[in-house]
Amino acid sequence: MITNQLKWVYSIAVVVAVNVALQMNQNTVAQAGSRIAEKTAASNIVRHVDTSKKLVALTFDDGPSETFTPQVLELLAKYHAKATFFVIGYRAKQYPQLVARELADHHEIGNHTYSHVILTHKSERRILKELLDGHNAIMESVGADESHYFRPPRGRFDKKVLQLARNEGYKVILWSVDSGDWSNPGAAKVARHVLAKVHSGDIVLFHDQGGNRTQTIDALNQVIPALERQGYHFVTLSELMKSTEVQK
Ligand SMILES: [Zn+2]
Repeated sequence: MITNQLKWVYSIAVVVAVNVALQMNQNTVAQAGSRIAEKTAASNIVRHVDTSKKLVALTFDDGPSETFTPQVLELLAKYHAKATFFVIGYRAKQYPQLVARELADHHEIGNHTYSHVILTHKSERRILKELLDGHNAIMESVGADESHYFRPPRGRFDKKVLQLARNEGYKVILWSVDSGDWSNPGAAKVARHVLAKVHSGDIVLFHDQGGNRTQTIDALNQVIPALERQGYHFVTLSELMKSTEVQK
């Protein structure tokens, strides 16, 4: 009798243990799966490119601006420098001729959302709408949108943003050098900061819209020739990416 009871208790214990083990295993598998998904999504972010070539990608956010974008374009043309413009959708619709000029000058266009809303903690639907409306605005302004690059406003993102951008075929581009031009600290300070920080493969953040960008233009007038004297070339993001397989 006692033996039978013990057997019964033992059987129950085995069943419970097996179930617990299975459940733990399932949890571990699920956790590993979500870690892999996070890692895959994170690998879709580019801040810098490892290259031995003296290449730098200048990027300009928040345009176009009817006042400052033409000045940036003239400056880039003067130094035969190429850049990438992360345009805001509603502004692209307002100034399609400036987006067209950016392309005609062989610069690259990236998607910076339609309305420049911060995307973290937004619903999937809202994030997707910002991405697609941004894309459609570029389409409408210049008849095509071949951009593969997306930069979330203020560089802020979460897992949802990364996943949706990836699903839509975008690489998320951040930066390795922030010029700090957005805070208008003085052109000399912006230039000194960028010149002290820049190395091969860097992606540099500037703005061609969002307030008075005179300091940005003045800083670029110092930064571009100084870096050219050091042997640097200014290329689009695609050209920078082509220079290596390693992006981080
Ligand atoms: Zn922005």
